[in-house]
Amino acid sequence: MEEDSNKRRPFVLRAALFLLSSLLSIALLGLVAMWVLLRPDSVLPEHWNPTRPLSITAPVTPVTRWQLRVASRDEAVCRDVLAQAGIGFSKMEPLVSGEHCGISQRGSLSSLIDAQVSPIETRCSTALRLAMWEHHDIQPAARQHLGSDVSQLLHIGSYNCRKMRTSRGTENAWSSHATARAFDITGVRLSDGRRLTLLKNWEGAGAEAAFMRQIWRGSCKWFRLVLGPDYNRLHADHFHLQTSGWGFCR
Ligand SMILES: [Zn+2]
Repeated sequence: MEEDSNKRRPFVLRAALFLLSSLLSIALLGLVAMWVLLRPDSVLPEHWNPTRPLSITAPVTPVTRWQLRVASRDEAVCRDVLAQAGIGFSKMEPLVSGEHCGISQRGSLSSLIDAQVSPIETRCSTALRLAMWEHHDIQPAARQHLGSDVSQLLHIGSYNCRKMRTSRGTENAWSSHATARAFDITGVRLSDGRRLTLLKNWEGAGAEAAFMRQIWRGSCKWFRLVLGPDYNRLHADHFHLQTSGWGFCR
């Protein structure tokens, strides 16, 4: 019995030493990571640094989604991110309208990065996702397929205190429009004067349809629920872009 416990002691000691050195290594790695992430003159670019705010025009990295989530939740960060990018979003007092309707993070959106928007009340987080979509998908797709920039996004509104509409009628659930967590886009105007709409340009094999399909796919990266002409007849003339949802895109 005595021999057994003598043999066990070095093992216990070795295990304890191993555990201690592992903990020290993890702590050291943590300190190095904090130093890299948090120091003001960090060598890590901002768009790779999850502790820094989102920049709309910075290249998209795996960190972008995290930065976007932080900005969507925090109104002050969201407003700052839009302002840094020169986006026209003037602050308004929150709107409360009954139990189910209203707009928090409220503002009037009038311009994105390069495209204008006819002034519309919406949430900051909705405007933010629109701006990401415009800069990273709409403008590149327009240059690629149509040889022109988009000068204006055409829409039919964001806030609307109403229940959900489906092809079977009105549902009991409240629409995401009732809190301005949605935006309906009907088309674009190009810098060369052309006006493209979903109703006119969704179908077909031409460059216009290719552009429409590409920006529809692109919108699914920035919004959590997207419904377009392929979903049902209610959406024949617009993309319904929603900031809440579970990744449905059709
Ligand atoms: Zn809608």
